Amino acid sequence: MKYRLKIYDLLIYEALFRRFHERYARNNSIISAYRKEKAGFDGERNVDYKLSTYPQKDFFIFQGIRLPNPPFYFQIDTLILTKKLIYILEVKNYKGNLKYDSKQNQMTQEVKGEVNAFKDPILQAEAQKTHLQQWLEKHGIYNVPIETLVVIAYPSTIIENIHQDPEVYHKIIHTESLHQHLNRLHETHAKDVLTTAAIRKLSKTLLQEDQPLRTNILDYYNIDDQQLIKGVPCEQCNYSPMTRLAGKWSCQKCNAISYNAHERVILDHFLLHGDTITNKQCRDLLRISSPRTAYLILNGMNLEHSGGNKGRKYISPVLGNFPQVSYLPKEIMSTLIFDKL
Ligand SMILES: [Zn+2]
Repeated sequence: MKYRLKIYDLLIYEALFRRFHERYARNNSIISAYRKEKAGFDGERNVDYKLSTYPQKDFFIFQGIRLPNPPFYFQIDTLILTKKLIYILEVKNYKGNLKYDSKQNQMTQEVKGEVNAFKDPILQAEAQKTHLQQWLEKHGIYNVPIETLVVIAYPSTIIENIHQDPEVYHKIIHTESLHQHLNRLHETHAKDVLTTAAIRKLSKTLLQEDQPLRTNILDYYNIDDQQLIKGVPCEQCNYSPMTRLAGKWSCQKCNAISYNAHERVILDHFLLHGDTITNKQCRDLLRISSPRTAYLILNGMNLEHSGGNKGRKYISPVLGNFPQVSYLPKEIMSTLIFDKL
């Protein structure tokens, strides 16, 4: 029902790395925050792959959904609707050695000689279950069993259940055993509680209510315009700004020509600066002077717009329409090597 997309925050970090002046880009706190987001996303993708090989056909799967339960929002890594029950998968990308203490409700991780403590993931998943129950009741759905599983994304992670609590073996699992646990839970719920029509209706509501989180990263890290590049960078050599000639962009440094290099810059503007862009903002952003050129460029991107003439604002595409492949400058890529294992 919903394929996993890069969350806004991940796209926003990538936009920032593209727009940062080189000397600001090597900011360790920003790079490590990005790596953390990216590692979470990669872990979830690993679980998505395992789930995609599950033979059961009547699963309605939502990969990443964030719902309001006022005054809170709750986020579910993977939500699965079936006729008999609803599954919540809480995905963890932890590596190294995990120790779960069911008496203290504590998870500790030892990796490369360092010990970290985490929130109890079983309680986290249970909290999402409570939120989801309340959300369902608000939408007139009662008495659907909900089961939670904490899924450890990487097979090389060692899980130690220190009190050998039998319940924990059923609650914290490896991706590799996901199919068995889905089967086990399916078998414990004998009767159908939702019809296919009810599941379809519920799916529609879930998609309507889904509100992906979006951070204002410039405010968060106190980044001002001086730290960001101006104009359209060359996709070949990263020189900025490219010069606008009739209908195309030209690089003064390497002579490369591009017809659409502005598109990425405008999409990055939406990610970093908000949902809309005016003709004037577009000219400032792309370093062009002609309102006519800006008009042609914005119209050429098939963006929705509101208001007329001078007040016209062009509106950001929805999350699903942003390119999922990231083109990061080479200097940044070299600092972002992800060790999965
Ligand atoms: Zn160039």
